[in-house]
Amino acid sequence: MEAKYYQKLHDRSVQCELCPHQCIISEGRQGKCRVRTNAKGTLQADNYQAIASVHLDPVEKKPLYHFYPGREVLSLGTVGCNFKCSCCQNFEISQVGVDGFAHFLSYSFDQLVQMAQDKPGNLGIAYTYNEPAVWFEFITQLAPRIQAVGLKNILVSNGYIMPKPLEELLACADAFNIDLKVFDEGIHHSFTGGELAYVKHTLKRIVAAERHLEITHLVIPGINDRMENFQAMIQWIGDSLGDTVPLHLSRYFPRYKAKNETTPVDLLLEMAEYARRYLKFVYVGNAVLDSFQDTYCPGCGTLVIQRSGYRIQLEQLSTRGTCLHCGHQIAVCS
Ligand code: SF4
Ligand code: SF4
Repeated sequence: MEAKYYQKLHDRSVQCELCPHQCIISEGRQGKCRVRTNAKGTLQADNYQAIASVHLDPVEKKPLYHFYPGREVLSLGTVGCNFKCSCCQNFEISQVGVDGFAHFLSYSFDQLVQMAQDKPGNLGIAYTYNEPAVWFEFITQLAPRIQAVGLKNILVSNGYIMPKPLEELLACADAFNIDLKVFDEGIHHSFTGGELAYVKHTLKRIVAAERHLEITHLVIPGINDRMENFQAMIQWIGDSLGDTVPLHLSRYFPRYKAKNETTPVDLLLEMAEYARRYLKFVYVGNAVLDSFQDTYCPGCGTLVIQRSGYRIQLEQLSTRGTCLHCGHQIAVCS
């Protein structure tokens, strides 16, 4: 499949314009994401319709806590990513190209739409596990078909994409969980290989386009545990995105190349306490702290959603997503 955003340069090299890396790729070579190849002077999207994972997951697992709580979503992933995080949970698929994965599944768009419709109670499709931005051609062809049958599209992303293709994704996406990794331009660049400013732009555009947004922040000792950076991030989220954007603080465990110590629970709790001064919905994940998974109404303090793992109880939530006690809007439900 020929890639959409690129230009041809001299000597049959090309420049990809999908993400801010703007890779210049000579003939026969790949971009940093490993899934866009210059084949005889044209840029090919190697992972188009190459599905590496298919699972029916709780929407809470994305994580999205305020988007149709309690529902499941058919979740798809492929290979490739435009970041290089040393702690990547899914490095087996994110840090390889199509040659590095042996068990791709192949479904037509019609089959995927049918699968999404056939799963009882399924919310739609989540593009997740690896980075969906580098699956651009596939998503922008499947997602409108999913919406056409009344289902939703969810992107779980690092937000690293150029403004123009982002607008195309916004036109066919309903909800995002964006991983905001480090709130310091220099550390962000050394940790991910990408620039924080583009991620911030993506976050602002999602809010301006009125798509549902939740943010994940994995707290990694030695990378992003400095309180002054964290405090600046929380204030920026509150000021630039609004205080109702749910924030998921997540505990890190050593994985892949990362050897940093596991996040101390006390640090997560200190961060959560600070974040709650500015944001109405702050959660702590991966830490077996069930009470930090629950949702309380910011209007009256009533427990509205109780969570235990991925099991939820809608204690005081109306079908319209409002608090049954005071009417405050809590979640998207219908
Ligand atoms: S999408 Fe891939 S090839 Fe294109 S600019 Fe980004 S990393 Fe480079
Ligand atoms: S952005 Fe996500 S998928 Fe990509 S390397 Fe980082 S953690 Fe892995």
